[in-house]
Amino acid sequence: MFDPNALLRTHLQKLVPYSSARDDYKGNEGVFLDANENSLGSITEEDWNRYPDPYQKELKARIGEVKEIDPKNIFLGNGSDEPIDLLFRAFCEPGKDNVIINPPTYGMYKVSADINNVEAREVLLTAEYDLDIETIKCAVNENTKIIFICSPNNPTGNDVSLDKIEEILCFFNGIVLVDEAYVDFTIRQSFALRLEEFPNLLVLQTFSKAWGLAALRLGMAFASEEILAILNRIKAPYNLSGLVQRTVLKALENLEKKDKMVDQILKNREFLGEALKQVPMIKTIYPTDSNFFLVKLENASDVYKKLIDQKIILRDRSKVALCEGGIRITVGTEKENELLIDALKNLN
Ligand code: PMP
Repeated sequence: MFDPNALLRTHLQKLVPYSSARDDYKGNEGVFLDANENSLGSITEEDWNRYPDPYQKELKARIGEVKEIDPKNIFLGNGSDEPIDLLFRAFCEPGKDNVIINPPTYGMYKVSADINNVEAREVLLTAEYDLDIETIKCAVNENTKIIFICSPNNPTGNDVSLDKIEEILCFFNGIVLVDEAYVDFTIRQSFALRLEEFPNLLVLQTFSKAWGLAALRLGMAFASEEILAILNRIKAPYNLSGLVQRTVLKALENLEKKDKMVDQILKNREFLGEALKQVPMIKTIYPTDSNFFLVKLENASDVYKKLIDQKIILRDRSKVALCEGGIRITVGTEKENELLIDALKNLN
């Protein structure tokens, strides 16, 4: 049976986490003279003088309703980057342990590994941008603590095979992180609804994409209570500001707007995909399950630079393994997509 505490770095097993008097008193009303806050109020009109809830109970309860996930299986962080970093700090012994990533993929897994002095073993995706399960199996050893899977994958745009993710979840006795930052743009069901089946699963989602809240920095990790208890022990106590908690709670009253935006993005994606086919210099347009396209063309870096001169900014991926000649294009508004297509057709 998978036990995350058996994976925990030894020095953390004895860690006494930060605690406050609010752990002993949970009420909202009272005479609060415990945290050296400003008892008079704040310098703004709003009441920001009290520390925010370190466990974000109200927000988790609401996210739980929206996502149909028990709040005890939800961890909230300062973007997705925070839980990624916490996983390294909890489970990976610097200079000894390793993780597996599947490039071309989201860059922060490797950056976070490097910051934490943990080896990131790179198992390239196949030519079809799917997981190479046999090579992953060969790369795993007794020091492998986390396998990172991104689906839909950035920068290729596609969902990787469900059955391959399931196979990894079954054979690997460490944490399997499935990054679903773009899950709202695909038709498959989220892995977050299958936590009971896979005790070693951790699913990442974010408010930065479909919800349009990238500036607020709010990432979600869904996992077993045992895994999340470890993240909660080592996180900074007030990792989410009161401003973020309050703003997102309010935003979650407006689910319809999010659904409408996703519908519109999917329509715009359809239009952009068709329009890109009409651009002669584009040689390949990869199928996408997300809110962007990977395309390949000759002279990708030149095209990228010329578009920047016209204030159209894409993401040059042409030097990335398996993406040679590739550019990543976010689906824009109807107007932005038209401007891009016109610019591409008129480039010389
Ligand atoms: N995961 C993937 C696959 C991403 O592409 C990104 C952002 N580009 C993130 C996570 C980061 O999300 P956040 O804004 O929540 O840190």
